[in-house]
Amino acid sequence: MSQKRTHEIACPFCGREQEVALWDSINVDSEPELREALLLNRVNRVECAGCGKGFRIDKPLVYRDREQDIFVHFDPLTGGRALADVEKSFREAMAELNRLLPKDVPPPEAHLVVEWSELIERVFLLEEGLDARLVEHIKYMLFQQNEGKIPASQKGLLFDAQDSTDEQLCFVVQDRSTKKLEAALNFARADYEALVNVFDSEDQLALLEEQFPGPYLNGRLRYLQDLAEP
Ligand SMILES: [Zn+2]
Repeated sequence: MSQKRTHEIACPFCGREQEVALWDSINVDSEPELREALLLNRVNRVECAGCGKGFRIDKPLVYRDREQDIFVHFDPLTGGRALADVEKSFREAMAELNRLLPKDVPPPEAHLVVEWSELIERVFLLEEGLDARLVEHIKYMLFQQNEGKIPASQKGLLFDAQDSTDEQLCFVVQDRSTKKLEAALNFARADYEALVNVFDSEDQLALLEEQFPGPYLNGRLRYLQDLAEP
């Protein structure tokens, strides 16, 4: 079941305080219209009762699609929380969930994202049957290949399902501060399939898991980390 709760919030534009109902979790098996609402950016969006301006409230949200086995936890880094703390509480919550599950029920493969755009991206790529870790690995390679052109400190890459084809996986370049989409990069699907085969071997998979131990997977941050190391 999807769950909504009432919150007391203040409008970021005019300061008016008001009560709004926000989603804690959405389950698209029982309410498929919520999938559409999420992808159209309408979930946890508020229209101020005072000034009429619209804005989104960044609060934790669980996205669940049992039929397609998709489980994404959006936990934004609000209130100055560090990524390490968010990963720690995610691990604890998953351990607790697995403890509560009956022994014969395999635990869901849960994904952690911390930005709204990552939530939408992750839902799309899982629906496409892509491997999230491999997609972040590809982003890492794209940053490496486009060094100078796409500075990882300022630009992000997002998988773009709508513009992807049977031949190409499409990635859009997004400026981290303006949020503007600036360019598109393609990655051949045949090369993706080749990577799937490479990482099919246990040794290679271990290398990929070492590159992205998780639970939070981010090719851009990993690339910046490796750049910073001597
Ligand atoms: Zn307002």
